[in-house]
Amino acid sequence: MNLGILSLRPTIGDQRTLIIACQECNLEQQGTDDVFFYTTLGNMLHRHDFLQQDIIRHHIEDNGCTQIVVCGHLHCGILDHILRDTTSRSVLTALQFNLIKPGENQKFVQPGVREQILVELNIIQQCNLLMDYHFIRERVAIGNLRIIGVLFTPDDEVIELCRNGFSYNNLISLN
Ligand SMILES: [Zn+2]
Repeated sequence: MNLGILSLRPTIGDQRTLIIACQECNLEQQGTDDVFFYTTLGNMLHRHDFLQQDIIRHHIEDNGCTQIVVCGHLHCGILDHILRDTTSRSVLTALQFNLIKPGENQKFVQPGVREQILVELNIIQQCNLLMDYHFIRERVAIGNLRIIGVLFTPDDEVIELCRNGFSYNNLISLN
Protein backbone atom coordinates (compact mmCIF):
# COMPACT_ATOMS: atom_id res chain seq x y z
CA MET A 1 0.00 0.00 0.00
CA ASN A 2 1.39 3.37 -0.94
CA LEU A 3 0.36 6.26 1.19
CA GLY A 4 0.71 9.76 -0.11
CA ILE A 5 2.35 12.41 1.96
CA LEU A 6 0.16 14.97 0.18
CA SER A 7 -2.90 13.67 2.00
CA LEU A 8 -1.17 14.43 5.28
CA ARG A 9 -0.35 18.02 4.40
CA PRO A 10 -3.43 19.55 6.07
CA THR A 11 -2.55 17.68 9.26
CA ILE A 12 1.13 18.62 9.07
CA GLY A 13 0.39 22.28 8.41
CA ASP A 14 3.41 24.43 9.08
CA GLN A 15 4.72 22.34 11.98
CA ARG A 16 8.01 20.47 11.96
CA THR A 17 6.61 16.98 12.10
CA LEU A 18 7.71 13.45 12.90
CA ILE A 19 5.56 10.92 11.08
CA ILE A 20 5.41 7.44 12.57
CA ALA A 21 4.15 5.07 9.92
CA CYS A 22 3.83 1.37 9.17
CA GLN A 23 6.91 -0.13 7.59
CA GLU A 24 4.92 -1.91 4.89
CA CYS A 25 3.11 1.23 3.77
CA ASN A 26 5.75 2.67 1.49
CA LEU A 27 4.76 6.12 2.62
CA GLU A 28 6.39 8.47 0.17
CA GLN A 29 9.20 9.85 2.25
CA GLN A 30 10.40 12.48 -0.12
CA GLY A 31 9.09 15.86 0.63
CA THR A 32 10.20 18.77 2.61
CA ASP A 33 12.93 19.19 5.17
CA ASP A 34 10.42 19.93 7.92
CA VAL A 35 8.99 16.39 7.85
CA PHE A 36 10.80 13.40 9.37
CA PHE A 37 9.87 9.74 9.22
CA TYR A 38 10.13 6.78 11.53
CA THR A 39 8.65 3.47 10.47
CA THR A 40 7.89 0.31 12.45
CA LEU A 41 5.90 -2.81 11.73
CA GLY A 42 2.24 -1.90 12.05
CA ASN A 43 3.35 1.54 13.32
CA MET A 44 3.67 -0.12 16.72
CA LEU A 45 6.02 1.26 19.34
CA HIS A 46 7.71 -0.68 22.12
CA ARG A 47 7.64 0.76 25.58
CA HIS A 48 11.02 -0.58 26.66
CA ASP A 49 12.89 0.01 23.45
CA PHE A 50 15.27 2.73 24.60
CA LEU A 51 16.91 3.10 21.19
CA GLN A 52 13.49 3.85 19.75
CA GLN A 53 12.84 6.37 22.53
CA ASP A 54 16.17 8.05 21.76
CA ILE A 55 15.26 8.35 18.08
CA ILE A 56 11.92 9.95 18.90
CA ARG A 57 13.54 12.24 21.44
CA HIS A 58 16.18 13.23 18.87
CA HIS A 59 13.48 14.32 16.44
CA ILE A 60 11.91 16.49 19.11
CA GLU A 61 14.97 17.93 20.81
CA ASP A 62 17.46 18.16 17.92
CA ASN A 63 15.26 18.39 14.84
CA GLY A 64 12.76 20.65 16.58
CA CYS A 65 9.62 18.66 15.83
CA THR A 66 6.56 20.19 17.41
CA GLN A 67 4.19 17.51 16.21
CA ILE A 68 4.14 13.72 16.01
CA VAL A 69 1.61 12.11 13.67
CA VAL A 70 1.01 8.37 14.06
CA CYS A 71 -0.35 6.98 10.78
CA GLY A 72 -2.27 3.75 10.67
CA HIS A 73 -3.86 2.30 7.59
CA LEU A 74 -6.62 -0.13 6.64
CA HIS A 75 -5.77 -3.54 5.13
CA CYS A 76 -2.56 -3.59 7.13
CA GLY A 77 -0.67 -6.84 6.51
CA ILE A 78 0.92 -6.66 9.95
CA LEU A 79 -2.41 -6.39 11.71
CA ASP A 80 -3.80 -9.11 9.48
CA HIS A 81 -0.95 -11.36 10.57
CA ILE A 82 -1.68 -10.64 14.23
CA LEU A 83 -5.35 -11.47 13.70
CA ARG A 84 -4.49 -14.82 12.15
CA ASP A 85 -1.70 -15.71 14.57
CA THR A 86 -3.03 -18.28 17.01
CA THR A 87 0.28 -18.87 18.79
CA SER A 88 0.49 -15.56 20.58
CA ARG A 89 -2.67 -13.74 21.53
CA SER A 90 -1.07 -11.05 23.63
CA VAL A 91 -1.00 -8.27 21.03
CA LEU A 92 -4.44 -9.15 19.82
CA THR A 93 -5.78 -9.34 23.36
CA ALA A 94 -4.37 -5.91 24.12
CA LEU A 95 -6.12 -4.50 21.08
CA GLN A 96 -9.47 -6.16 21.27
CA PHE A 97 -10.89 -5.34 24.68
CA ASN A 98 -14.57 -6.28 24.55
CA LEU A 99 -14.39 -7.79 21.10
CA ILE A 100 -12.53 -10.81 22.42
CA LYS A 101 -15.26 -11.65 24.89
CA PRO A 102 -17.78 -14.10 23.56
CA GLY A 103 -21.02 -12.28 23.39
CA GLU A 104 -23.50 -10.46 21.27
CA ASN A 105 -20.87 -7.98 20.07
CA GLN A 106 -19.16 -10.58 17.92
CA LYS A 107 -22.32 -11.35 15.97
CA PHE A 108 -23.14 -7.80 14.98
CA VAL A 109 -19.75 -6.33 14.18
CA GLN A 110 -19.00 -6.84 10.48
CA PRO A 111 -15.45 -8.03 9.67
CA GLY A 112 -14.62 -4.79 7.86
CA VAL A 113 -15.86 -2.70 10.76
CA ARG A 114 -14.01 -4.93 13.21
CA GLU A 115 -10.79 -4.45 11.23
CA GLN A 116 -11.22 -0.70 11.31
CA ILE A 117 -11.90 -0.76 15.06
CA LEU A 118 -8.68 -2.70 15.67
CA VAL A 119 -6.61 -0.45 13.43
CA GLU A 120 -8.01 2.63 15.15
CA LEU A 121 -7.45 1.20 18.62
CA ASN A 122 -3.88 0.41 17.64
CA ILE A 123 -3.26 4.00 16.53
CA ILE A 124 -4.82 5.38 19.69
CA GLN A 125 -2.74 3.01 21.85
CA GLN A 126 0.50 4.05 20.16
CA CYS A 127 -0.38 7.71 20.72
CA ASN A 128 -1.15 6.99 24.38
CA LEU A 129 2.16 5.20 24.73
CA LEU A 130 3.95 8.26 23.36
CA MET A 131 2.10 10.40 25.89
CA ASP A 132 3.53 8.21 28.65
CA TYR A 133 7.08 9.33 27.91
CA HIS A 134 7.92 12.19 30.26
CA PHE A 135 9.84 14.13 27.60
CA ILE A 136 6.69 14.09 25.48
CA ARG A 137 4.09 14.52 28.22
CA GLU A 138 5.82 17.60 29.61
CA ARG A 139 5.96 19.29 26.21
CA VAL A 140 2.33 18.47 25.45
CA ALA A 141 1.30 19.92 28.81
CA ILE A 142 2.83 23.31 28.02
CA GLY A 143 1.63 23.32 24.41
CA ASN A 144 5.01 22.79 22.73
CA LEU A 145 4.13 19.45 21.17
CA ARG A 146 1.07 17.77 19.66
CA ILE A 147 0.44 14.06 19.33
CA ILE A 148 -2.02 13.23 16.56
CA GLY A 149 -3.29 9.82 15.46
CA VAL A 150 -4.65 9.44 11.94
CA LEU A 151 -6.09 6.65 9.83
CA PHE A 152 -5.43 6.36 6.10
CA THR A 153 -8.35 4.91 4.18
CA PRO A 154 -7.76 2.95 0.95
CA ASP A 155 -8.75 6.12 -0.92
CA ASP A 156 -5.86 7.99 0.70
CA GLU A 157 -8.28 9.92 2.83
CA VAL A 158 -6.95 10.90 6.25
CA ILE A 159 -9.21 10.61 9.29
CA GLU A 160 -8.00 12.17 12.51
CA LEU A 161 -8.68 9.89 15.48
CA CYS A 162 -7.06 11.49 18.46
CA ARG A 163 -5.09 14.50 19.54
CA ASN A 164 -3.03 14.87 22.71
CA GLY A 165 -4.62 11.83 24.34
CA PHE A 166 -8.17 12.83 23.52
CA SER A 167 -9.98 10.41 21.21
CA TYR A 168 -13.00 11.60 19.33
CA ASN A 169 -13.91 8.77 17.09
CA ASN A 170 -17.41 7.36 17.05
CA LEU A 171 -16.49 3.95 15.74
CA ILE A 172 -14.55 2.82 18.79
CA SER A 173 -17.67 3.28 20.90
CA LEU A 174 -18.88 0.08 19.21
CA ASN A 175 -16.13 -1.72 21.07
ZN1 LIG B 1 0.70 -1.80 7.79
